[in-house]
Amino acid sequence: MYKQWMVLRPWMWILVAAALATPDRLRAEGADLGVAAAATGRDAGAAPSDAGAAPPDAAPAAAPKAQGPARYSSEWTEATLRSYHERYPKLTRLVRLGTSLEGRPLWALAIGRHLRRADRRPAVLLNGAHHGLELLSIDAVIDAIEVLLLRSGSGAAAGADAGVEPAPTLRRDPALDRRVRRWLDELAVWAVPVVNPDGAWAALNGTPRTGRKNGRDTDGNGRIDLTDGVDLNRNYPFKWGFLGEVGSSSKPQSYYYRGAAPGSEPETQAMMRLAESEHPAASVSYHTGTVAVLAPYTIDNVQDPTPNEAWLVGEYVVAGLGMHPQGKPFTLRRKIYSVDGTDQDYYRHRFGTLALLVEGARRDAKDEAERLAIVHTLRPTWMRLFDRFLDGPSLSGHVRDAAGKPVVATVMIAELATHENETWSTRCRDGRFDRYLPAPGTYTVRVMVPGQPPLEKSVEVTEGRAQLDIVLPGAVAATRCPESP
Ligand SMILES: [Zn+2]
Repeated sequence: MYKQWMVLRPWMWILVAAALATPDRLRAEGADLGVAAAATGRDAGAAPSDAGAAPPDAAPAAAPKAQGPARYSSEWTEATLRSYHERYPKLTRLVRLGTSLEGRPLWALAIGRHLRRADRRPAVLLNGAHHGLELLSIDAVIDAIEVLLLRSGSGAAAGADAGVEPAPTLRRDPALDRRVRRWLDELAVWAVPVVNPDGAWAALNGTPRTGRKNGRDTDGNGRIDLTDGVDLNRNYPFKWGFLGEVGSSSKPQSYYYRGAAPGSEPETQAMMRLAESEHPAASVSYHTGTVAVLAPYTIDNVQDPTPNEAWLVGEYVVAGLGMHPQGKPFTLRRKIYSVDGTDQDYYRHRFGTLALLVEGARRDAKDEAERLAIVHTLRPTWMRLFDRFLDGPSLSGHVRDAAGKPVVATVMIAELATHENETWSTRCRDGRFDRYLPAPGTYTVRVMVPGQPPLEKSVEVTEGRAQLDIVLPGAVAATRCPESP
């Protein structure tokens, strides 16, 4: 199957995309997109009603079953994202972030209304399958894409939203539609369903190599061996190898091998390039293995900011989660066990990102019904994270110089003490910063630029999202910005 799909010509992908976009697929995957509202408590008590959905006999006849690439394969991921991009060109950008060691593309679908490269909105990031065998983590991200796109223009306002087709099979849920439109208007959502396509390939094809790790030939013998590969979620540079052989391993044959150097792997580097360019305000990294939400930092003997708004926001997220279909309630935890070199801690330390890790299932889904039930249960993880940022209390702003040019400045909040030399800076291209705040209050914002005296501004945050634009007195030399993906 794999080899067969490798030789497809570009025009054939159009057929693949068309097959994936059939009403059949919409009905299978999009028909229940209203369940999350009940799960978040906003519509608690309302039975999941199908009122407003097309009656079954109104749907077009199912297309003949297409022979498509296997679910979760690199070809399937690409065809799925390409199909959504073609159907929602004004809401999406399909971006190749990089290439895996074995040559598979790392795809992102960036989502937002009239999204542009180097967009000015706050970025938020959803990723799956750092560990390629955790296939349900891919579903979690694909599902978020589907909710955002299929609900973007449904309902009465669909006609006004030029270029976006209504999705007639969706369950009617105007409240969720409004939330989706707000996210599309106010955020740039970066969805990366498969960070480790080589691992997913190994998991799907029963090769000797574990699907947990990437495709590095760690013993250099030119073959894929059982022990090859790097654990990408031990390869990020913050506190890489900090715990010695406890939180990751220096031994290439280990399941938890952290790689030869911090950020050594092309997949890790691709994610880091994205983050360096976009400075995500929030992120969720989806995994499987147990049922939990992890708030940073995950490492023992690394001190969280005080107060730790990431924990408080984590509590808010967990409060919206129902019982997991595999029979375990979600809990908020700092760690499952102490690990170093994770993406979550890297985002948190480097950018101040409200970076959560969601362990979304105890094991693979036993059937399609359980798969859908798990995916529905996970929806509030990203929905409530987005809402909490937009609802506040939170603070957004820009730092510019006297000439109005964006400035790369360190922006810290005096009342939120940090203890690990965090230097959270503005985004290069537009000088923007975004912070979740633990509570309403008066905050002192400290802006530091090399060669200039520090500047302090006091801001009163009652509720909602406060805005603070800071203009520095002089001119500041321009900085070369990372390339926007
Ligand atoms: Zn994992």
